[in-house]
Amino acid sequence: MEVESSSKDFGMLNQGEAVAVLHPAGSAEDVARLVRTAYESGFAVSARGHGHSINGQAMIKERKLKGVVIEMGKGGHNNNNNNNNIRVCEEEMYVDVWGGELWIQVLNATLEYGLAPMSWTDYLYLSVGGTLSNAGISGQTFNHGPQITNVHQLDVVTGKGELLTCSEEQNSELFHGVLGGLGQFGVITRVRMALEPAPHRVRWIRVLYSNFSTFTKDQEFLISLHEKPASQKFDYVEGFVIVDEGLINNWRSSFFSPSNPVKIISLNVDGGALYCLEITKNYNQENADSIDEEINVLLKKLDFIATSLFTTDLPYVDFLDRVHKAELKLRSKGLWDVPHPWLNLFVPKSRISDFDKGVFKGILGNKTSGPILIYPMNKSKWDQRNSVVTPEEEVFYLVAFLRSALDSETLEYLSNQNNQILRFCNDAKIKVKQYLPHYTTQQEWMDHFGDKWTQFFHRKMQFDPRCILATGQQIFQFHP
Ligand code: FAD
Repeated sequence: MEVESSSKDFGMLNQGEAVAVLHPAGSAEDVARLVRTAYESGFAVSARGHGHSINGQAMIKERKLKGVVIEMGKGGHNNNNNNNNIRVCEEEMYVDVWGGELWIQVLNATLEYGLAPMSWTDYLYLSVGGTLSNAGISGQTFNHGPQITNVHQLDVVTGKGELLTCSEEQNSELFHGVLGGLGQFGVITRVRMALEPAPHRVRWIRVLYSNFSTFTKDQEFLISLHEKPASQKFDYVEGFVIVDEGLINNWRSSFFSPSNPVKIISLNVDGGALYCLEITKNYNQENADSIDEEINVLLKKLDFIATSLFTTDLPYVDFLDRVHKAELKLRSKGLWDVPHPWLNLFVPKSRISDFDKGVFKGILGNKTSGPILIYPMNKSKWDQRNSVVTPEEEVFYLVAFLRSALDSETLEYLSNQNNQILRFCNDAKIKVKQYLPHYTTQQEWMDHFGDKWTQFFHRKMQFDPRCILATGQQIFQFHP
């Protein structure tokens, strides 16, 4: 039963084949002992955070690997904040957390000190180790960088079973390798990350555009303010595409309440797509008086459809935990545990309008089966020494097709469409990079990493020479 539940993930597209599961219960030594044995005896080991991958990345995919899954998140500690897996240092404004901890647990624990991390994912029921193995992005990324650039120090069990502390100064090759390293160089057991004073409340604003270039011009303007003082910029910049009545049905639509439907149908939709800019401003009781003025100054510089402005106001924690509310609704309707053929792409700014024409207004048709996010970020906020790869340009967009398939026909349709989107980018020479990448051959991985491949390969040989870790990513072949 235990092995069975560790053999699934959010994508529901693969079935794992692990022979056993380890619950390290917050003990890095337990992890190190297991990995040492695997290194000496020759079996595969995969850390599993919260199993929210799409393509079996945290799984042992073949039984012949005789692999063991380490359940980093379950067992040994409970979900309240009184466990010793999270330790806040108020004076130096950092928190030490166990690698399997969920972001929601980190948030709840740090809020007790009035502090919080500054860079987030949209959804908080993901493990710290799992997101740092990718990047961890959201609407704050333009301002604070991805989550991996907010880490001070890590404890990592390498593929040889050594437990090492690493940071920019100490074992820096391992530190940068692991951040965005897709689990290839070690198991993250402890993370020290930066905190800031947590704001009390959030003003959450959505506005619509019918013209794509006006929409992206405004998004790019907003992220260009990243070096300005907090009062002169928004704290979060995201957006999404609406190509059908999906807005009404999609899982983030509760924002547009039925009593304030924004009359989407009445808007003049040009070319078959609408674009929604989503922005927030954080504030405390002390500056509650000036917040409206600060927002108005910024909104005046934007060119959205004037009648489409919709604002709501909520506690900071409710904003950060917003997707969980949608999850509970979908769960109650049996719509959460279904296949998710998601595709996440980083698209260079210079080609985003070609992408709009070819994909949003072309390939997609008028049925999306889930939200499609689009928002820009700046490469200068990403540390190039880390393993993750992004497009070459300074500004690039995340385009996230977060779709659900309720039956096998839809699954096939969406999977084909994903392939069509990738083919279109290839044919049109739009140099996209996959985020949460999924490839099955080493040549594809070499193309994905480009200039970074040699370094990635050397790091692998240094820290996991038998290639026993995270084989579910299908980057390196482990031979038992
Ligand atoms: P798993 O799926 O368990 O693992 C992912 C990979 O990391 C595997 O290769 C695994 O072996 C490895 N790994 C796990 N734990 C460790 C560890 N401690 N040490 C080393 N390697 C480890 N991502 C964003 O950036 N922004 C978002 O807003 C966002 N929203 C999401 C919303 C939903 C509903 C879902 C399902 C996913 C979302 N993601 C988002 C993607 C998410 O960050 C990745 O899928 C991430 O890998 C999930 O974390 P996990 O803990 O479930 O990892």
